[in-house]
Amino acid sequence: MNKIPFNKPFLLGKEVEYIREAVVSGRISGDGSFTKRCHSFFQDKFSFKKCLITTSCTAALEMAAILTEIGPGDEVIMPSYTFVSTANAFILRGAKVVFIDSHPDCPGIDENLIEQQITNRTKAIVPVHYAGFACDMDKIMGLADKYNLFVIEDAAQAIDGNYKSRPLGSIGHLSTFSFHETKNVISGEGGMLVVNDPKFIRRAEIIWEKGTNRSAFFRGEVDKYNWVDIGSSFLPSEIIAAFLLAQLENLDIIQERRREVWELYQSELMTGSWEKQYGLPKIPSYSSNNYHLFYMICKSQEQRSSLIKYLKAKNISAVFHYQSLHKSPYYLSKHDGRELRHADRFSDCLVRLPLYFELTKEEQRFIIDSILEFFGLKK
Ligand SMILES: *Cc1c(COP(=O)(O)O)cnc(C)c1O
Repeated sequence: MNKIPFNKPFLLGKEVEYIREAVVSGRISGDGSFTKRCHSFFQDKFSFKKCLITTSCTAALEMAAILTEIGPGDEVIMPSYTFVSTANAFILRGAKVVFIDSHPDCPGIDENLIEQQITNRTKAIVPVHYAGFACDMDKIMGLADKYNLFVIEDAAQAIDGNYKSRPLGSIGHLSTFSFHETKNVISGEGGMLVVNDPKFIRRAEIIWEKGTNRSAFFRGEVDKYNWVDIGSSFLPSEIIAAFLLAQLENLDIIQERRREVWELYQSELMTGSWEKQYGLPKIPSYSSNNYHLFYMICKSQEQRSSLIKYLKAKNISAVFHYQSLHKSPYYLSKHDGRELRHADRFSDCLVRLPLYFELTKEEQRFIIDSILEFFGLKK
């Protein structure tokens, strides 16, 4: 068996053709026709109010922090078990981050622990739809209404996911997506800011275009463009947008393939007395599955290390992720000392299995057999 990587970028067909088309058209800087087609795709398919593709989800989170005017003295609530960018965007503005534990049986933020951390300095809640599994958005939006807070969905992993029947990314005031090569739909690096609260639309475009009203100028609404606000170069080139559009046009094919892989892992790993050996994803009843990632929960950090080592010896790359942020070298001394034991357990015990478009059935069988062999569950 060849080496099985954890992730592998893939082409669906038209990526290179679209990039060529962009170059030949004479424009590869940002905000051109491919960018607009990406925006329309999302606005039409998921009824997002306004979309702005960005160079990354990190950039989109930074835009969200600027738009909500979060700054020194403000507090932002988010899970500890997440990627650094969720927190960094607000730290960069001088805010304080207050970390919340995960659910006992699901890595997402435990919505029941949020209210007790709200103070008169709290400005926003940032739920992260980990693995594309929805957070309890009714509860979170209810808290936001009660305390007058912004909700910024970190939907980096959540494309095509739903909370009840609503698309993830359409519920918070703002939300952010990623098209990093490890996500379902990719453009190498890439992301998107979604603006659902119309009061942010104008300013979002300005921040996106380096603090200028260039978008309004292109629409013919002003006769010259000027520096009107703070901003940065958050918009991607047409090369990225062209690649992304080719992927988006095949979203259903991508999702179908990922569904097959995900469901095969689940059905094959639920065998014998598996529950005594490891945990598998538990999807909250209000959430859909977008098949973003498949994980197992080992009994201990030691068992996880042995499993990863065992698979590595067979040329299979399985990985773990997210050292809980409240224990990171950067944040440890700034954290208020609360123990976040479920976040810590997922940090220590969660392992992600290879899941990508071109993973073959044969390769997947080999991964599954190797795992069952490790746990002594092989039939
Ligand atoms: C991938 C990811 C990000 C960062 O996305 P980039 O596009 O790489 O900046 C942020 N938050 C979460 C939860 C992610 O999974």
